Amino acid sequence: MQQQPQSPELQTGKYKSILLIGAPGSGKGTQGKILSAIPGFYHSSTGDIFRSLDLQTETGRTFWDYASRGELVPDEFTIQVWKNYIKGMELTNQFHPETQMLVLDGIPRSVMQARLLEDTIDVVKVIYLVCADMSKMVERLRRRALKENRFDDANDKVIRHRLEVYERDTHPIIEHYPADKICRIDATMSMIDVLYEIVKILKPLKASQ
Ligand code: ADP
Repeated sequence: MQQQPQSPELQTGKYKSILLIGAPGSGKGTQGKILSAIPGFYHSSTGDIFRSLDLQTETGRTFWDYASRGELVPDEFTIQVWKNYIKGMELTNQFHPETQMLVLDGIPRSVMQARLLEDTIDVVKVIYLVCADMSKMVERLRRRALKENRFDDANDKVIRHRLEVYERDTHPIIEHYPADKICRIDATMSMIDVLYEIVKILKPLKASQ
């Protein structure tokens, strides 16, 4: 009997993933949501997962405790929550790893998280939304706080702290992955221009599948 070719996910046992890395306000969520409308991609945002938790639960309270101060939720805890969540999506047929590539937004957010994910994801590309002008990010976060009722962006002190935490803990991720996987895109461009650059990177990946 002829063997069926195995899907990439089954070959490695890991989820093929594209990482969106960038400072708060760089547009990861905006781009991730648009990409999730393209067949073959599945957008997963840890911020959204955490915000959907019930604040009456221990997990929900842990998130609130850190996020309201602009801190990252501890690494092991975050990775456990995310792994459980994505497994749940797979088991309930909402995420199809054989045909869909993950677009990860907000995870990994530290080198430690990148290490803890190594047994689960296979990083194909890292899309780094570069922002040379941080005041632009602060402006976007202030606007979003008003529009989306985001408690963590409502006060300038917390916003500034979130940007510092990004520089200290998240930015070093770029050095963690091989240079040929990193694609730099100017995050200060318009939404459609950033999207266009991302699509140019993703198109060959899908065409070759
Ligand atoms: P933004 O993209 O604006 O930084 P998110 O919606 O991704 O915001 O995340 C909101 C908050 O959720 C973060 O400030 C942090 O407290 C928590 N969080 C989200 N993802 C992670 C993660 N991978 N590790 C630790 N904390 C996280």
